[in-house]
Amino acid sequence: MSVFAAPEFLDHEQVVFACDDTVGLKAIFAIHSTKKGPALGGCRMWAYESEASALTDVLRLSKAMTYKAVMAGLKLGGGKVVIIADPKRDKTPALLQAMGQAVDRLGGRFIIAEDVGTTVSDTAEFRKTTNHVVGLPEELGGSGDPSPTTAKGCLVGLQACAEHVWKQADLAGARVAIQGLGNVGWNLAQLLNDAGAEIVVCDIHQSAISRAETELGAKVVSPDAIYDVEADVFAPCAMGAILNDETIPRLRARIVGGAANNQLLGLEHADRLQDRGILYAPDYVINAAGMMRVASEKDGFDQGWVDKKISNISGTLLEIFGEASRRSVSTEAASRIIAEERLAH
Ligand code: NAD
Repeated sequence: MSVFAAPEFLDHEQVVFACDDTVGLKAIFAIHSTKKGPALGGCRMWAYESEASALTDVLRLSKAMTYKAVMAGLKLGGGKVVIIADPKRDKTPALLQAMGQAVDRLGGRFIIAEDVGTTVSDTAEFRKTTNHVVGLPEELGGSGDPSPTTAKGCLVGLQACAEHVWKQADLAGARVAIQGLGNVGWNLAQLLNDAGAEIVVCDIHQSAISRAETELGAKVVSPDAIYDVEADVFAPCAMGAILNDETIPRLRARIVGGAANNQLLGLEHADRLQDRGILYAPDYVINAAGMMRVASEKDGFDQGWVDKKISNISGTLLEIFGEASRRSVSTEAASRIIAEERLAH
């Protein structure tokens, strides 16, 4: 396994391997940038098929966190940590506390939060061995579950997309296909339903789709059929790399925007979307509201500050779309140009 030669190793400041055999901890930290402040990143716990795939994942995710922070105007850098283990089987308080100790050894360069495979209550375990943690439960002075806030930011972002494409932000009557009804997808489905949108959903868990059918009157399709749905908006809210050579030609939506991280398999897939006349909202911009929420904990959680930040997602996306038109590049390429410029200054 090579680290420096990995295609995803791009200007990373630091990669740290942490291990504690006594509790089964095997983790990889990737600190992409601390130029704007300490690297904030969630802790993903996943039964990776190999150490190499865990490394690839953490390197890709951490760079996106740098872009997310800088595009959100936060005084933070980007990082991520992955634990190679099955959260359902291997998660114990001792393992989570050992993770906190590993964070603490980084001396404040890295701030840990929750991600796929970890929860808000797990952050309370990290907190027992480090102060460098956000996304804590409300009873510990934290901001609690960031997912409803992330969904709110996605709605604001989709409204900006609608404004750009149809010259009106109102999504009433729009047809939205949502992939994944987890913590964010379910909240987004509710918000879109309240906004008068027609919802088509899929998930790999029957309980999630049954609930959407009964409570929201959503139309349900199979996980594979979601790409073929005739819709105005496709909202990926499950896993990454789902925008690729196989799926993009099948999309029937005019807008793609949702919560999932790393939706594009490669940068070239942003061009494929553009070729097809599909407006893509860069994921790290439209899904940044959860990060805004947990980041606010550092100075004492402030809902008003978070709400103002969320409303800025609209302006940021419109700026990206304008820049993409001016430069005749994809929205992802335009977004990266803006992010790199902001990082440089
Ligand atoms: P989650 O695990 O609660 O939900 C994911 C959902 O997707 C689950 O219901 C799962 O069953 C479903 N799913 C998995 N594979 C699927 C498939 N092939 N087809 C359809 N459904 C599938 O996660 P979440 O917290 O809702 O996050 C969703 C995505 O958004 C993740 O990529 C996450 O990294 C990203 N994200 C989340 C937040 C947040 O605040 N939670 C913030 C930023 C980004």
